[in-house]
Amino acid sequence: MSDVYAHPTADARPNGDPLARYTTLRLGGPAGRLVTAASADEIVHKVQEAQQRDEPVLILAGGSNVVIGDQGFPGTVVLVRSRGLRVVAEDAETVTVRVEAGEPWDDLVAATVANGWSGVECLSGIPGSAGATPIQNVGAYGQEVAETIVGVQVYDRTDGTVGRIDAADCGFAYRSSIFKYSDRWVVLSVDFRLARSPLSGPVRYAELARSLGVEVGDRVPLADARATVLRLRAGKGMVLDAADPDTWSVGSFFTNPVLDREAYQLLRERAADIAEPPSWPCPGDLVKVSAAWLIDKAGFTKGHPGPEGTAISTKHTLALTNRAGGTSTAALVALAREIRDGVHARFGVTLHPEPVLINCTI
Ligand SMILES: Cc1cc2nc3c(=O)[nH]c(=O)nc-3n(C[C@H](O)[C@H](O)[C@H](O)COP(=O)(O)OP(=O)(O)OC[C@H]3O[C@@H](n4cnc5c(N)ncnc54)[C@H](O)[C@@H]3O)c2cc1C
Repeated sequence: MSDVYAHPTADARPNGDPLARYTTLRLGGPAGRLVTAASADEIVHKVQEAQQRDEPVLILAGGSNVVIGDQGFPGTVVLVRSRGLRVVAEDAETVTVRVEAGEPWDDLVAATVANGWSGVECLSGIPGSAGATPIQNVGAYGQEVAETIVGVQVYDRTDGTVGRIDAADCGFAYRSSIFKYSDRWVVLSVDFRLARSPLSGPVRYAELARSLGVEVGDRVPLADARATVLRLRAGKGMVLDAADPDTWSVGSFFTNPVLDREAYQLLRERAADIAEPPSWPCPGDLVKVSAAWLIDKAGFTKGHPGPEGTAISTKHTLALTNRAGGTSTAALVALAREIRDGVHARFGVTLHPEPVLINCTI
């Protein structure tokens, strides 16, 4: 089993330990108090304990989608380290797996592929925990977890109860859900319903289909889908690699903007001297455009340097990296701000950060 967590537990460490040790950006100041929870009961208990002490609480798992300020977090940080998965329902066609929040996501994907369970294979190689996947409806290469999650077991911090939220009530949308930017719920475990099939779902992502040598809409053996996604991701610095500073990031720093027709028309006019901006229709007469294209065409190309050794990844325009290792969150945020403002000045489009910003802002 892999260990996606740089430092699996905290209890042996002194308080004041920088949270940089627990984030893939390797950034973040100290926590007031840092505790580890190794089961759902422990997660509830440690959150309740902090609430009784009237301390703010930060739930932190793989630390791969957070930007934590240099001042750190002045409260209790609960490191989610619960593990395990079990089948809770099955029939001839499907299997429903309940996965503890702290289970490393890619271990789960590997297990589903090995078992012939189809539905998350294109999400191979994404860092972090299973419990964090509903938070921003994790997605990549034409799949997102909203397609397979059937329910989420949660601790509700407002009324102190443990309950279940069905997928239909999770408010899943592009890189979003009711959980993102809300402190109310702590995810304890997630139920995924997967198809019993040796084949992937229909391949929807053109680049993936090309690499697999199939047409969009075809199905391929699960192991082939997984291996190809891992290879494509590694080539873009999107699989964590301690030896590769291009992966010292939060993955994509900005979401793809979703524009109304008027904003899209303005973008097309401003881009007329370059090319037609890549776009995808969205429900509600909206249009999604590529943040990577906007950033690149605004002059922020791969490798573009920011302050204190920060830089855009040399492999992916959307990843901002702390490649020097010893820099500050303020420097990374300054780079993000420069990019956001530059894109706005050139194209009139505002980029929004994908990660959760804690005690910092762009
Ligand atoms: C190299 C790289 C590539 C990436 N590629 C992708 C990608 O392709 N697609 C994609 O969608 N994302 C991607 N990400 C972002 C990230 O991996 C995912 O969002 C992941 O699900 C975050 O999991 P985590 O355990 O690290 O969450 P953390 O960073 O620990 O937490 C993220 C947020 O979720 C909250 N949270 C975490 N666990 C819980 C819980 N149990 N209950 C309540 N709240 C919780 C935290 O409080 C925080 O607000 C990438 C990141 C990196 C570094």
